[in-house]
Amino acid sequence: MYRVSVDYSFAAGHALRGYKGKCENVHGHNYKVRVNVAGDQLNAIGLLVDFVDLRAALRKIIERLDHRMLNDLEPFDRLNPSAENLAAYFAAELGRAFESQPVRIEAVTVWETDTTSATYYPAPVRGASP
Ligand SMILES: [Zn+2]
Repeated sequence: MYRVSVDYSFAAGHALRGYKGKCENVHGHNYKVRVNVAGDQLNAIGLLVDFVDLRAALRKIIERLDHRMLNDLEPFDRLNPSAENLAAYFAAELGRAFESQPVRIEAVTVWETDTTSATYYPAPVRGASP
């Protein structure tokens, strides 16, 4: 199996609904996102997935979130904008972007700070390859 990773950063504000503590208040993070894509098949020139394509797909998602208040944006207007939910959101959006390619989104990690992160591992799609 091969794994390809791309990191990307963005800045955004959020407030955690229902959280008892200071994270309930509006505050911001310089988020970092790491996407791990996995698969067994390399293409004719030896790539699992083109870094350029992966970065472009990630950038497209981030452009909607960067320098915004996450709580105002769908789906975080109803889903808490936690690092966990952000990671799952990125995984779902990237899964759609790469559904025609023989790769899967193995994991997405979202850092809120240098020392705190959450990772989401999408469940493998049954019957899909690899
Ligand atoms: Zn926060």
